[in-house]
Amino acid sequence: MENKKTIIVVGGGFAGLEFINQLKQAHQYKIILVDLNNYNFFPPLLYQVAAGFMEPSAISYPFRKILRKHDNVKFYMGELQKVVPEENKIILSNGELSYDILVMASGARK
Ligand SMILES: Cc1cc2nc3c(=O)[nH]c(=O)nc-3n(C[C@H](O)[C@H](O)[C@H](O)COP(=O)(O)OP(=O)(O)OC[C@H]3O[C@@H](n4cnc5c(N)ncnc54)[C@H](O)[C@@H]3O)c2cc1C
Repeated sequence: MENKKTIIVVGGGFAGLEFINQLKQAHQYKIILVDLNNYNFFPPLLYQVAAGFMEPSAISYPFRKILRKHDNVKFYMGELQKVVPEENKIILSNGELSYDILVMASGARK
């Protein structure tokens, strides 16, 4: 059985999705996208939503639909709480995942 390396990408914003898009043909990897939401959204249009000019659904899209075409990518919804580099694992609000390569793309916040 093929032993694929696991890449975990934390954060499905511009950075995380672009990284995954670049690796969509890299079938030697199993990629897991982790995000605390189950949807990507487009921050530049947040003001239009706040002002009532657009519906939230117009600037957001479910990760599972975005990733549907990528058979080497899975989505896991959960909030990252801790990285344990000595054990190559991350602790989420709802479980733990092990990785070979960890990509942090969780944006500019804490
Ligand atoms: C109102 C507004 C308008 C903007 N307008 C422009 C513009 O016109 N042009 C421009 O170039 N840029 C604009 N920006 C900036 C642009 O949106 C950011 O630079 C860009 O979104 C950063 O992308 P990112 O992938 O690094 O992070 P983000 O887009 O912040 O994505 C981070 C992802 O990580 C997830 N995440 C965060 N913490 C955790 C956690 N603990 N566990 C799991 N998941 C987590 C989040 O849910 C999110 O999906 C704007 C930003 C805002 C807020």
